[in-house]
Amino acid sequence: MKRKILVIEDNEQNLYLVRFILERSNYEVFAATDGRTGIETASALKPDLILLDIQLPVMDGYAVARSLRENPDLADTPIVAVTSYAMPGDREKTIAAGCNGYIEKPIDPETFVASVERHLPDRKGGEQRR
Ligand code: MN
Repeated sequence: MKRKILVIEDNEQNLYLVRFILERSNYEVFAATDGRTGIETASALKPDLILLDIQLPVMDGYAVARSLRENPDLADTPIVAVTSYAMPGDREKTIAAGCNGYIEKPIDPETFVASVERHLPDRKGGEQRR
């Protein structure tokens, strides 16, 4: 069975690129373009991993991460922030909000899947393609 990744991202181009890269690596990709929908989709879907944009309309990614962590069903789901914020302390802020890791934009298609898979439990070792 394909593993499910939920992408919460409001930028169409980023979403397109992330979907393309992950589907090429045989993941099933679900998308939400705002935080509220992302939280609802995560609760219903229980994905294997969540990719979370931080700059989102209405509700930012920090608030989304905190809300996801309040759901016991999602307590152990890896959440990886994907953000162009590059200020000192931003990584710490994403971790404090409940994220497991942080990938910087712009997305590098060469390394993106490996960066994501670092946070997926029981991934097969040594099979990462670059
Ligand atoms: Mn955004």
